[in-house]
Amino acid sequence: MLSEFELIARYFAGPAQSAAAAVPGAASGVVQGPGDDCAVLTPTPGCQLAVSVDTSLADVHFPADAPAVAIGHRALAVALSDLAAMGARARWCVMAITLPEADDTWLAGFAEGFHALCRASDVALAGGDVTRGPLSISVTVHGEFPAGQALTRGGGQAGDVLAVSGALGGGRGGLEAWHAGVRELGDPLLAAYLLPQPRLAAGEALRTLAHCAIDISDGLLVDLDHLCSAAGLGAELDVARLPLSAGLAARLGEAGAREAALCGGDDYELLIGLPAAQLETARQRLAALDVPLTVIGRLRQAPGIAGVDAALLRSGWRHFPEAAS
Ligand code: ADP
Ligand code: MG
Repeated sequence: MLSEFELIARYFAGPAQSAAAAVPGAASGVVQGPGDDCAVLTPTPGCQLAVSVDTSLADVHFPADAPAVAIGHRALAVALSDLAAMGARARWCVMAITLPEADDTWLAGFAEGFHALCRASDVALAGGDVTRGPLSISVTVHGEFPAGQALTRGGGQAGDVLAVSGALGGGRGGLEAWHAGVRELGDPLLAAYLLPQPRLAAGEALRTLAHCAIDISDGLLVDLDHLCSAAGLGAELDVARLPLSAGLAARLGEAGAREAALCGGDDYELLIGLPAAQLETARQRLAALDVPLTVIGRLRQAPGIAGVDAALLRSGWRHFPEAAS
């Protein structure tokens, strides 16, 4: 049985992880990584810090028997998605994990998924905590942007174009696929659910173009409502234009696919409001990152969300009660 310290050294903060874990040095901004009582980090001069924490609970946010590599990836991805939504550059994370047991095979998979996304996102794991109990992972992420440039939820203006990155409904579709017995991570819907890609580069590219942004974690309607409320505005949606995840209609049917895109949650795409004059630039910047940007409506002065079936609006994310957020 591994001791807590051996476990940390082997999977999270030892020499084997040095490529992904906090390597002290100017480039990483890490003065002290794992190994002391605190991490010591150097923010970039002139930048503000964006800080967010997300907890992922087994059988609430992910199936407890999902592949460990996906659990490691996803726990970090959902946290990084909040940095993307603010237009922040991801820099550091700390991770607290509660484990029912120290299973080597499981831990190796989890660490592989977590560290791979650290590397891909240029994030240093600077510290954490390990405890015993029901499986849960809390990840705190730290990002930066030039002072005053935070991309907030509340900056939308009437007339702004509403646009969404990537495709919608995959989170819900993937959950359905899992329940139907699909276990292959190469399945596009299951990958959308278990291996979401935080839109960090897109968020940074949009920071100076968009008026407002949010990441779609609770479902398009719920998150659009957050954008609207924060700005004191309403919105018109063109539901026919929603970009649906590949394979979604085949699995859920046309109506089910649209509902999943509107209410399903767990998509981790960016929903932005931006002036029409910036749309083409925004589209080009995201195209260079291989991320589609689709116009799905606009913000308006009048309150409420127009263009959506009233029953769907009322049900919101509760439409899918088992998809807790
Ligand atoms: P303390 O008891 O002082 O909180 P810990 O024994 O919890 O210290 O952790 C020892 C060191 O290992 C700390 O620097 C901590 O940041 C690091 N560490 C613990 N758990 C993790 C983890 N899951 N990922 C990365 N570093 C970790
Ligand atoms: Mg501790």
